[in-house]
Amino acid sequence: MTPIFKHLRACVFVLLSGLSQYASAIYIDINFSGSLSTSQQAVFTQAEQFWENTLTGYQPSINANALSNIVINAKGEAIDGAGGILGSAGPTYIWDIGGYILSSEGDMRFDTADLANLENNGTLESVIRHEMAHVLGFGVLWELNGVYVEGSGQYTGANALSLWQTEFGQSNATYIPIEAGGGPGTAEAHWDEVNFGSAATGILDEDNNDLRDELMTGWLNSNAFISDMTIASFVDIGYEVALSEVPVPAAAYLFLSALASLFYAKRKTNVLPL
Ligand SMILES: [Zn+2]
Repeated sequence: MTPIFKHLRACVFVLLSGLSQYASAIYIDINFSGSLSTSQQAVFTQAEQFWENTLTGYQPSINANALSNIVINAKGEAIDGAGGILGSAGPTYIWDIGGYILSSEGDMRFDTADLANLENNGTLESVIRHEMAHVLGFGVLWELNGVYVEGSGQYTGANALSLWQTEFGQSNATYIPIEAGGGPGTAEAHWDEVNFGSAATGILDEDNNDLRDELMTGWLNSNAFISDMTIASFVDIGYEVALSEVPVPAAAYLFLSALASLFYAKRKTNVLPL
């Protein structure tokens, strides 16, 4: 299976302070450019609203007054024709504030030759939600926020781990397994599943959804669902979320400030008729 989606390498600048008129909540602004149809832009907006409703603010240590809106530059452009590379996404600016590394700007680029297929097969919103999650920090900002060590395959953020134990029945787990396959970008930036989504994992949530179908694994499946574990993982990297099961995070955490450890994340799929 050819990799079809690659996240941008994060070109990172750490801003130590900033100004904003906003005091709480998460505001995402999408700047559209290139060839994105009205209906495609509407799907981006739906994904924006999903994450704005899900990520309700920042952790108390973060001075939200120092944060501006999260800007996402969404562009449709010709890349390599139908199939192949679908596009790329990732943060382009991050902030070091309140003990967290937070995304403040990112890019999402899509191959116009693939967008219609994604729309027609009903997976475009899942793909955009997935990629927007990376722009917001999922996978890409884990190491900088001290919840993952590159090469370990073990996510240790307390909030997501708590949901791994309860939502997915892994009561004795001390970490969440992270994808090792799929090559640079897919590896180390997603929940672990059978490579290429080629088989069920046998790991079920409370509603008997197989982990294979979770939105933030490395391969897209047509019936993707978003687990509470994924939502809780955003607490581990500085957000507050709309999820009653997520406990108040521990005050102490390991903070990593090394900025050299940036990596690609990429999206693959086994279901798109490309
Ligand atoms: Zn991804």
